Amino acid sequence: MTFEEAALCESLNKNISKSGYVKPTPVQKHGIPIISAGRDLMACAQTGSGKTAAFLLPMLQRLMADGVASSRFSELQEPEAIIVAPTRELINQIYLEARKFAYGTCVRPVVVYGGVSTGHQIRDVLRGCNVLCGTPGRLMDMIGRGKVGLSKLRYLVLDEADRMLDMGFEPEMRRLVGSPGMPTKENRQTLMFSATFPEDIQRLAADFLKVDYLFLA
Ligand code: AMP
Repeated sequence: MTFEEAALCESLNKNISKSGYVKPTPVQKHGIPIISAGRDLMACAQTGSGKTAAFLLPMLQRLMADGVASSRFSELQEPEAIIVAPTRELINQIYLEARKFAYGTCVRPVVVYGGVSTGHQIRDVLRGCNVLCGTPGRLMDMIGRGKVGLSKLRYLVLDEADRMLDMGFEPEMRRLVGSPGMPTKENRQTLMFSATFPEDIQRLAADFLKVDYLFLA
């Protein structure tokens, strides 16, 4: 698959070219068609593999295709996608990449993370967002306080899942996935990325992803 063959919309293609990406990396080449087809995916991919664009591009494409058709982008928009990563640095990188690819479109990404006051992050979320990027604890805090609604959620991405387990975030991840209002795995698309695939990650994949998920290593 080339980027042209991924059949992405013009704004995304423009933003890909502006980023200087010419050729998809292996995880993009194999992952984009699977994600575009709406299937769950467990991918073993390291930082530096291009995994962020692999999940962002098909997800943004589908959000835009649906959003343009129904003009659903507005204030108080609840997130259609939630992306979780273990650290502030990582989630910020994902957020910046999402902003770069969503530039010039009506998709609004927002980022929330711990270690800073929640006030401005809550205001940012309440201004409406389509793609919410967050660290596990802060996301759970905002969902628990009713600041993030889950009624529109269709995509859940868990990035660097093995690091999240190493950092002790398994309870938060399980609470997030089991939150009241979280669509069941049959009613959402779940994507998991991890550098390694030990037993505890296999258990998470079995619990969070649909049975027919694809494994990409
Ligand atoms: P990631 O593994 O998603 O953290 O990406 C690692 C780095 O590779 C980031 O700086 C990306 O901007 C860059 N990158 C991702 N995909 C491509 C591509 N197809 N061509 C060139 N650079 C890329």
